[in-house]
Amino acid sequence: MLFWNLNTGRNGWFANMDYYRLLEQLLHELNGMGNFDLQSLNSILAEMCRLLHVAKGVTSVYATPALELEGKGEHFICYDSGVSCHEELKERLLTPANMVVTCSAYHPDDAEPWTDIEVQRIQLIQKMIVSFLNRSRLSTVVERLSYYDDDGYRNLRYFVNRIETLGHAGRLGGMVVARFNLRHLSLVNHQVGRKAGTIAIQNYFEAVQSAAGENGLVCRMGGDNFVMMCSREAEENVLCVFHGYPVIYDTETNDRVTISATAGIYEVPSDYSFSGHGDIMDKIISSYQHGKLDGKESVVFYTEQMMDERENIMRIQQLFQPALEREEFLVYYQPKINVDNNDLAGAEALCRWQHKGRLVPPIEFIPVLEQNLDICKLDFYMLDHVCRDIRKWMNEGRRVVRVSVNLSRKHMIDADLFEHILEIVDRNHVPHEYIEIELTETTTDVAFRDLKRVVGELQSAGFYTSVDDFGIGYSSLNLIREIPWNVLKVDKSFLPAEKNDIASRSSIMFRHVVAMARELGLEGVAEGVETSEQVEILRKNCCTIAQGFYYDRPLPKEAFEDRLEHHVYPAF
Ligand code: C2E
Ligand code: MG
Ligand code: MG
Repeated sequence: MLFWNLNTGRNGWFANMDYYRLLEQLLHELNGMGNFDLQSLNSILAEMCRLLHVAKGVTSVYATPALELEGKGEHFICYDSGVSCHEELKERLLTPANMVVTCSAYHPDDAEPWTDIEVQRIQLIQKMIVSFLNRSRLSTVVERLSYYDDDGYRNLRYFVNRIETLGHAGRLGGMVVARFNLRHLSLVNHQVGRKAGTIAIQNYFEAVQSAAGENGLVCRMGGDNFVMMCSREAEENVLCVFHGYPVIYDTETNDRVTISATAGIYEVPSDYSFSGHGDIMDKIISSYQHGKLDGKESVVFYTEQMMDERENIMRIQQLFQPALEREEFLVYYQPKINVDNNDLAGAEALCRWQHKGRLVPPIEFIPVLEQNLDICKLDFYMLDHVCRDIRKWMNEGRRVVRVSVNLSRKHMIDADLFEHILEIVDRNHVPHEYIEIELTETTTDVAFRDLKRVVGELQSAGFYTSVDDFGIGYSSLNLIREIPWNVLKVDKSFLPAEKNDIASRSSIMFRHVVAMARELGLEGVAEGVETSEQVEILRKNCCTIAQGFYYDRPLPKEAFEDRLEHHVYPAF
């Protein structure tokens, strides 16, 4: 009996021998000394499970601890006896790369508990498996994961890799490569909800992918930004999708929305000599930026001249911070005049950049600064300088007029925008009624609710708010119906050029826009007034305030101070 126990029992001599033999084989495999393949590893582990009375062995790899909680990972079952069982021993390792590897041993429901020695052995094997996966398997898992983003789209690394492969093989020539962004997506999110937006993105992605054909590839850079490549034959189809394609956003009702894209495209010439993926990426990005900046064409093809523009953009972005610190940005003031009595009624602060002896106009740098959030720094700088000037004028006992400051729509993502404005104005001890905040309506990125909130906050603190360039942007009527602005600045394109132009479309629109502003209790300001005929039109239509070259161009501070002194403009 004793002999039987020693030699054949659960921890008997034979069992020990088998265990050590298997352990040696396992070590051999895991250390890479054997001709490693998953099958032989699995058969060793299966034998060990049988020997140690483990009903099932499961190893899992999760990309992050969060995905572990959701149970989303890769699972390998090395052994499954098929009997009913439950998880009992689990080894878990959080790797330095923030991945999680677990190895679980399942105990058969109807069997005796594991002995202490069995438990020790099972745990040792689990530790070996987990650390092996950490070392070897992880590198492949990491690689695989690094080519896909969290939503399962192929990512930029994947794309770059493909470009490198094709480029080195000399097979990029004749391909079409593009970077694109979904247009008006925030509007889709806003109107039909975020979930619908996500479905729409996925379906649009699939439409591009299918238009790109077999050799095509579409990868996501992040959010609604994508890159793609296809053959020249597929280009036409892809362009159709870029110009507008109806995609389903509600899988239950099959409701559809038309989505188009802003795209920068590079048609790789057939004799193209590859010099690294950076060259291709630069070309698609510069044509894309060109489209974004220009705003006229949404699909833009790369030309050599765009490379210079891109360099210019990068140069401005690099120069910006030091220029801000050196206070190279100057406030110019353009007077606003009351056309009834020719009195100075206010001014608009406009930025000029004094750089290397040249006065750079805003059109050359503001669109560039709007590409990142640098524009916000500039706007706060301008507001601060305007406040300093007003404070100075008040201290000098001059008459002070209300000054309007332009704020880019990029500020709308700043949840503390109002507090920032308040801090700047109060720090300079400027009464709030001297400050007007101008916001444009030209962007389609309508963070409508945020805009409404900010305007409300500004007004309740006694600031003036105006909608700038009214009429040329998006959703104009909605914008003034929903948001209680104080001032409406009618864009210069509405101002009739000639007096006898009275029946023209713009003339009719101008009349109606001004009348509507008055009805709504808004102060109307006409921008771009250049001639006495236009002043006459303003008077006739009861639009009291004019801003334009007819009276003054934007003036340096000192010249504007003169206007504050002698503030009545001569009647003509
Ligand atoms: P805006 O806010 O609509 O400013 C009015 C623009 O019209 C100014 O151009 C002004 O010089 C120009 N203008 C005024 N009167 C006339 C006229 O009679 N005829 C014509 N043809 N133009 C006239 P500017 O100073 O070049 O500024 C262009 C735009 O740059 C501004 O348009 C504004 O959107 C932006 N901007 C300027 N300064 C700032 C700033 O500090 N922050 C932000 N975010 N944007 C700014
Ligand atoms: Mg303005
Ligand atoms: Mg304007």
